Amino acid sequence: MRRKLAAGNWKMNGTRAAFAEAKALIAAHPAPRCQILLCPPATLIAAMAEIAEGSPLLVGGQDCHADAAGAHTGDISAAMLAEAGAGFVILGHSERRADHAERDEDVRRKADAALAAGLVAIVCVGETEAERDAGSELDVVGRQLAGSVPDGATGADVVIAYEPVWAIGTGRTPTAEQIAAMHRFLRETLVARFGEDGHAFRLLYGGSVKPGNARSIFAIPDVDGALVGGASLKAEDFKPIVAALEDCADRE
Ligand code: PEP
Repeated sequence: MRRKLAAGNWKMNGTRAAFAEAKALIAAHPAPRCQILLCPPATLIAAMAEIAEGSPLLVGGQDCHADAAGAHTGDISAAMLAEAGAGFVILGHSERRADHAERDEDVRRKADAALAAGLVAIVCVGETEAERDAGSELDVVGRQLAGSVPDGATGADVVIAYEPVWAIGTGRTPTAEQIAAMHRFLRETLVARFGEDGHAFRLLYGGSVKPGNARSIFAIPDVDGALVGGASLKAEDFKPIVAALEDCADRE
């Protein structure tokens, strides 16, 4: 049984004023039937972890460096995230792959560092619109998955987020068939590589998940939750997404 996960990626949004949103989320879901995670900017992680203490809200980072320490101005190690109170870290988000030229091998090294620090790594994969138009989405995502997920990964410490780049922040989503086909492919690829444990990896869908489409996305086979950007910033938007995932967890 895979625990459902509703993960919010605040990206470079939020100051301490945004803690009101985290508090509202905790108040609305005191005993959720799925995991709820917020990944705020690094500056907010420690304080958000204090707010979340004793509640079911989980806190994560949005990136980490592959090295444990050293001359890497502006970077944060996985152990630093863990010490600040993070239990998760998003890695290989398409914005980092694009803005910081992160390659699969970089993501894999970061994931290794995250696992060594005891964090759960959410490894993001996803094709661009041109790649989907060319019919190469399975090749692209298969390559990213193979290159970004470390050999030592297990379903307990790595989550895969399928995020088509063309669906992120655009209001566009793939069809249910397109999501189902990709998640089936991810599952088969993980089982081929990790054997039976391949069934234990949680597969999140990400890309313009909103209160209005969450329920239908969560009904798709092999969708174990969502990685949510814009709609995770406001509790009023994220709460119904979490509720839809809880209903889905109830039915299993
Ligand atoms: C994301 O950035 O991971 C994301 C899915 O963003 P949005 O939900 O805003 O499309």
